[in-house]
Amino acid sequence: MSKVRVVVAGPRGKMGSEALRMIEKQDDLELVACLDHKYDGQKISDFEELPKFDATIYNDIEKCFQSVEADVLVDLTTPEFGYLHTKTAIHYGVRPVVGTTGFTEEQLQELTDLSEEKGVGVIIAPNFALGAVLMMQFAKWAAKYFPDVEIIEKHHDNKLDAPSGTAIKTAALIKEVRESKQQGHPDEKETISGARGADVNGMRIHSMRLPGLVAHQEVVFGSSGENLTIKHDSFHRESFMTGVKLAIDNVMKLDILVYGLENILE
Ligand code: NAP
Repeated sequence: MSKVRVVVAGPRGKMGSEALRMIEKQDDLELVACLDHKYDGQKISDFEELPKFDATIYNDIEKCFQSVEADVLVDLTTPEFGYLHTKTAIHYGVRPVVGTTGFTEEQLQELTDLSEEKGVGVIIAPNFALGAVLMMQFAKWAAKYFPDVEIIEKHHDNKLDAPSGTAIKTAALIKEVRESKQQGHPDEKETISGARGADVNGMRIHSMRLPGLVAHQEVVFGSSGENLTIKHDSFHRESFMTGVKLAIDNVMKLDILVYGLENILE
């Protein structure tokens, strides 16, 4: 069986370096190159803290795809570059597996249309942790019976986007089953702006950023005399890698864009 040839964008990052360690353990994956915005032409093996891959680092994505044969691009960078990388990869027929969060609805729609037009599979997953995917599904189920809900997401303080992609995705799933409803007292006033969090169809999202955190979320449902809390914690970035591997395996069989890991779980 031939190996799936993978390019990783963001190899020195917290998620990208974890993806390299995951690839190192797989017999059916081969790292053929990396994309970075620094260290052009250097090898991954030049970095002591990274696995000893012979793969070359490219700063220019076009040059990368013209120089190496690749099947999949795993993008774990920033919203701005993740979007550009995904678009370019589709044009080159390289299937993107995107963990980068913070894309706008318009960007997601554009990538969905482009993927369909070119017949190139794409998976974009705001959360690759299987537990988080289940947390979102359980929350959607509970929202049918508990329309009063607040989402509290907690992440490390280097995160660029707020609210998290997972919180946005959770709210979107809940929105599918919950009638739009303004929560709290109708005359409620914020004496300090932002105190009640972001408003999505009347439900609230609160974002916490602190050193020491990785990725955590609570979905709290309220009803007369009872609360239900659905909670997920990623304590280590290794928790995302089972999902990244699953997405790489699945993207090879797709010719459209799939958003959310739950759509490829059996
Ligand atoms: P990080 O540690 O800051 O890593 C991002 C890496 O991308 C850095 O090494 C950065 O280099 C590099 N980079 C910046 N611009 C680039 C470009 N143009 N080309 C290539 N590389 C570039 O962040 P992280 O925690 O790994 O997170 C990365 C992304 O994954 C974020 O969007 C985050 O929200 C998302 N994430 C997703 C999941 C999921 O399950 N889907 C889980 C956790 C995080 P410099 O440091 O030199 O700028």
